[in-house]
Amino acid sequence: MSSELLFASYAPRSMSPDQSIGAKFDRLLAEFDLPGSVKNRSVAVKMHLGGGNGFSTIHPFFVRKLVKALKNAGAKDVFITDLKHDVENAVERGYTEEVCGCRLVPVCGADESEYCTFPLEVPFKTMDRIELSKPILDADVLLDFSHVKGHGVCGFGGASKNLSMGAVTNAMRQMLHAQEGGLEWDESKCTRCQKCVTNCPDKAMTFKDGKLRIFFHNCKYCRHCMLICPHDAIKIEQGCYVDFQQAMAMTSAKLLSFFESRALFINMLMDITLFCDCWGMTTPALVPDLGILAGRDIVAIEQCSLDLINKAPFYRESLPPGWSCSEDTSKHIFERLHGKNPYAVVKALEEMGMVSSNYTVREIF
Ligand code: SF4
Ligand code: SF4
Repeated sequence: MSSELLFASYAPRSMSPDQSIGAKFDRLLAEFDLPGSVKNRSVAVKMHLGGGNGFSTIHPFFVRKLVKALKNAGAKDVFITDLKHDVENAVERGYTEEVCGCRLVPVCGADESEYCTFPLEVPFKTMDRIELSKPILDADVLLDFSHVKGHGVCGFGGASKNLSMGAVTNAMRQMLHAQEGGLEWDESKCTRCQKCVTNCPDKAMTFKDGKLRIFFHNCKYCRHCMLICPHDAIKIEQGCYVDFQQAMAMTSAKLLSFFESRALFINMLMDITLFCDCWGMTTPALVPDLGILAGRDIVAIEQCSLDLINKAPFYRESLPPGWSCSEDTSKHIFERLHGKNPYAVVKALEEMGMVSSNYTVREIF
């Protein structure tokens, strides 16, 4: 089965204002059959509102257009939601009720008490439950409005990460981060010679209180530490880092199971930076601004987003000082940068039956 995606390219065909991405976004929303999905229904718009000195989140210009389109389509209530501290600081990036046209709501309430717990029949590693936002679960429609960018731990952040890491409790997010890994250290064999630390090209290792600490955000699984270790104290298996992606996919799939055809996805392929919006800073874009994708199939939209990014020219000069990029062009640009295959989460979602990575694209001109 193939899912249709709508695509508004950032590139204009002429210098007419109706060729601007804003005008194309209006036409894309008009083609998206919003009345059929939202009329007389409440809509939770899940966004990542960013933090710190970052400003490459979705521009309020597009948020306002989306909220207006939802209201014009007959939605009875629309609200934007994200983590409590990001909602509290949203004004710094221009997101206010007045600008956006709707309320901004902390994802699990002002005191983190509004959530629902779903125990896992079969625990996944140390993850024994999924805690989801009640305000989102109480809505009739979920609109996953995502800024697509790179991510240190899972290769990229898009529609799935926006839900799995952002539509949950703080405790759940910590449980997900606890699934990061893939590098095993055998303390009993280690002499604390520090050769692994000094030979790690990405400064992913430190010793603290005699214990080896690994910052998986930086680790590219290059295996230098494993090869340099004189006592065979470090082990790295092939594809070992995918547990985090698997746990994220499980969480997204659980949330989406409550919405099915009432879940809509819009991926913004602009300001595609090296790191996530939670990093608190914005670096130059890695590739040109591409445009906006919309669809009803999370697997298809994530797959297409990654495919478009990989086809785009890569701006090597955008990399921060000291940051390298593998020359292995058979891999996705995000894997070449972060050492993690970004398609892992797409594959995991597809295996969970969250529809198909086959897609067709209908361009909105
Ligand atoms: S190189 Fe091996 S033995 Fe030396 S500190 Fe690292 S893990 Fe321990
Ligand atoms: S695998 Fe490479 S990047 Fe990761 S900790 Fe070891 S040396 Fe550092």
